[in-house]
Amino acid sequence: MRVLDDSPLPRWRFDNAWLRELPVDPAEASGSRQVHGAAASRVSPTPVAQPRLLAYAAEVATMLDLSPAAVGSEAFAEVFGGNALVPGMEPWATCYGGHQFGVWAGQLGDGRALSLGEVVAASGQRWELQLKGAGPTPYSRGADGRAVLRSSVREFLCSEAMHHLGVPTTRALCLVGTGEAVVRDMFYDGRPRPEPGAIVCRVAPSFARFGHLELPAARRDVALLERLAAFVLRRCYPDLGPPGPEAYAAMFREVAARTAEMVAGWMRVGFVHGVMNTDNMSLLGITIDYGPYGWLEDFDPGWTPNTTDRTHRRYAFGQQPAVALWNLTRLAEALAFIVEPHEALQEGLDAYVDGFNAATKRNLAAKLGLEACRGDDDVALGRELEALLHRGEVDMTLFYRGLGAVDADHPTLAPFEEAFYDAGRRAAVADELQTWLGRWAARVRDQGWSDEARRAVMRRANPRFVLRNYLAQEVIDQAEHGDASGISRLLEVLRHPYDDQPGQERFARPRPEWARHRPGCSMLSCSS
Ligand code: AMP
Ligand code: MG
Repeated sequence: MRVLDDSPLPRWRFDNAWLRELPVDPAEASGSRQVHGAAASRVSPTPVAQPRLLAYAAEVATMLDLSPAAVGSEAFAEVFGGNALVPGMEPWATCYGGHQFGVWAGQLGDGRALSLGEVVAASGQRWELQLKGAGPTPYSRGADGRAVLRSSVREFLCSEAMHHLGVPTTRALCLVGTGEAVVRDMFYDGRPRPEPGAIVCRVAPSFARFGHLELPAARRDVALLERLAAFVLRRCYPDLGPPGPEAYAAMFREVAARTAEMVAGWMRVGFVHGVMNTDNMSLLGITIDYGPYGWLEDFDPGWTPNTTDRTHRRYAFGQQPAVALWNLTRLAEALAFIVEPHEALQEGLDAYVDGFNAATKRNLAAKLGLEACRGDDDVALGRELEALLHRGEVDMTLFYRGLGAVDADHPTLAPFEEAFYDAGRRAAVADELQTWLGRWAARVRDQGWSDEARRAVMRRANPRFVLRNYLAQEVIDQAEHGDASGISRLLEVLRHPYDDQPGQERFARPRPEWARHRPGCSMLSCSS
């Protein structure tokens, strides 16, 4: 693989700890295989025909000491399109397993992701750079290791949107078009077609997943399990003490607490991950692997964007808190080989439940403009509202944002004009919603805050701009026709989701009728 010794990119300091501190697969052959006794395999990106930068995230570039000139250089597109490396990069793919849709799936691994290296930025912060869609690895299981433009645009935008919403997530540096076609059967109807290909470079302190620990546990390779656990502890949780059963238990509690915050964040903003398999759960408690995710439009706990999950709805919006607990239980089972006593793992699971309940109450209070939830009454008030939003087919984002505009002295439904998708459903709940507003207003007045103080709290909890499914699809359609500029325009709006942004109303509108049943908007397959 070509190494650019002299390029406009920074002279990054790399410290590729995953390779240095963990056992690496001795085989260097390409081709899918089972990898035992190793945490990673060295692998090169597969060069592409015409790498072209389509969009990038300025904050992430700054985090990585990249100047705008460096990002605009040919070398940048070459490196992040997988055609070249800079000194210090040593690409690798990692080995992990996972439970998919509730069933143990064995070895999965980075089938189309590969890490270029771990940069130690000028700030001292470490960032792992990972390409998604840069060609096959030993973990590709016969697939091509590539990604289509539509799914790459979605991962790029959502990573950044989530960050700016304040929900823990991997970040995205850039989106590079490959100039090559990728063949996918998007509708699983036996009619595959070529689509433009693209590569996202994602960025995180670590991409360690539950599945990294589950696989050696399932294989009874306790030595490798312990090495991985010790590695994650040192790298991600250095304050928890030296490796050993107690520190692993403390790490599990911390993973559980962070996962609780993450999922509570998803529920606050109406995000549905879509594929909460354990291999898609981060040991840092950050949102990872944006596939067939979606955002609630009308509030419906049973909604899932993932067509593969339509029958069982395992990963529907309202299931996410319980699924995270199920996933944490699988992680606890893996850690049980190296943690004593096992009660410590149960404490971690309890920490998840307590943490999630506390975060949910805190978020509910902020969404309703309350200082804190007072006993069960406020929780009940929130639950009743959710039931009304569901029955009335009300847009979640518009409703909560509109609630901030309601006059607590004279509450009416006027601020919610745009939030209803169906006149009949609106009529069915209008009276009850008015009654609910009256109770809410009384509760808010009773608190004695100024309108201004209450509205400030609500604005920070209730975004005006989220990555509505149809907004992503619009910029994807344009990009597929050769105009990628809409991606950066949409990102610009999503950088300030809690601001009113006068002039950008277009990005805060409810789902238009054309998008109700359009694939890519209401339905997404795992084909990506
Ligand atoms: P996901 O559902 O995207 O989390 O992927 C599940 C597993 O399938 C992971 O091990 C991926 O690396 C692998 N995978 C998905 N798509 C591809 C592809 N096009 N080529 C190779 N591996 C893939
Ligand atoms: Mg995955």
